[in-house]
Amino acid sequence: MKSPQDKKPSRTLAPATGLVTSGRDTLAQKGFINPPIVRGSTVLYPTAEDLHAHRGEFQYGRHGTPTTKALIDALMTLEGANCAGVGLAPSGVAAISTTLLAVLKSGDHLLVIDSAYRPTRNFCDSLLKRYGVETSYFDPLIGADVATLFKPNTRAVVVEAPGSQSFEMPDIPAIAKAAHDKGILVIDDNTWATPLYHRSLDQGVDISIQAATKYIGGHSDIMFGTIAANATAWPLITEAIRLLGVCAGPDDVFLALRGLRTLAVRLAHHQQSGLDMARWFAARPEVLRVLHPGLESDPGHAIWKRDFTGASGLFSIVLKPAPQKAVDAFLDALTLFGMGYSWGGFESLVIPFDCSGYRTATTWAPGGPALRFHIGLESLDDLKADLAAGFEVFNAAKG
Ligand SMILES: *Cc1c(COP(=O)(O)O)cnc(C)c1O
Repeated sequence: MKSPQDKKPSRTLAPATGLVTSGRDTLAQKGFINPPIVRGSTVLYPTAEDLHAHRGEFQYGRHGTPTTKALIDALMTLEGANCAGVGLAPSGVAAISTTLLAVLKSGDHLLVIDSAYRPTRNFCDSLLKRYGVETSYFDPLIGADVATLFKPNTRAVVVEAPGSQSFEMPDIPAIAKAAHDKGILVIDDNTWATPLYHRSLDQGVDISIQAATKYIGGHSDIMFGTIAANATAWPLITEAIRLLGVCAGPDDVFLALRGLRTLAVRLAHHQQSGLDMARWFAARPEVLRVLHPGLESDPGHAIWKRDFTGASGLFSIVLKPAPQKAVDAFLDALTLFGMGYSWGGFESLVIPFDCSGYRTATTWAPGGPALRFHIGLESLDDLKADLAAGFEVFNAAKG
């Protein structure tokens, strides 16, 4: 039965088209658009000869099913031509820990960007340390000078762009070039932009990680992680995934694929609303600074413009100095911004934060209380009215 997916397109497809067309095997799916949710451990072999030869597309549930195959095919298309393989993990943190265990060994030195996602630091400072890996942190704005921190035993550099909560924009191509000159691997936590707006693997990164819990899932209903690697790093990743027994549940695999199908429209909306809201905050008298690399005024804007094709809906603001009780009154007054961790779903969120306890190569001194916003898919007029009402409460509580 023929479908558009069985015909070869005559031109290279845009990433948005790839999100819709990839990972679809119409014949295997008996004509249906989507793959079945295959729940399975055992895969039966028809003959003893097949068993001895490990013959067959699928061998065992942990190693892959028709559902994971569909998702991996789609993710490989999204990650681009330099992607040699994609591994699936049960959370973003599991994707990060699996990757670090895959590339490091006792006696190695690891460099991690100071603005990394906090649990990444926690993993390095506890389990990796216990296993004899030394981690040092570097200024996100270091660029090619990262080379001054290389030791003979430096094995990998971990970057994240922009920085978690603080939104500094590192120069990933410069860091990658310096690292590759010494045979050092580069790992990028690419959750914020997704490969749709930042093709890590095309910018010299060897391993591109996503907390697919965020924008890939897109609906705040799954925990999921992906590890995409180039040909240099893929053998290490696939080996570690096998040895550690890392795999993802079938419902979450299905939902991740379902999320991918609408990623382009959701992300475009998050981008537009996020930029609009960032500008709105910048014009508010209560706001000292807005941390969003998509704003022309942001120190990271030039790098963002060069290396990224878009922004997502997550950014931070710094308020002018105000007592905690006024900030809490503001947060409590909001009705459309839920308070909670994670982001990337359809809904708007806010969280107060203070990075000072988890920055060591740089000093976090923003000049006032800091809040991180995720702008969801609600009407901007409604969101602005909610925030304006919140600021009235804030100003009254400030006294
Ligand atoms: C949320 C997040 C993670 C972790 O993802 P989980 O699925 O929650 O484990 C990793 N990196 C970044 C940048 C994140 O925002």
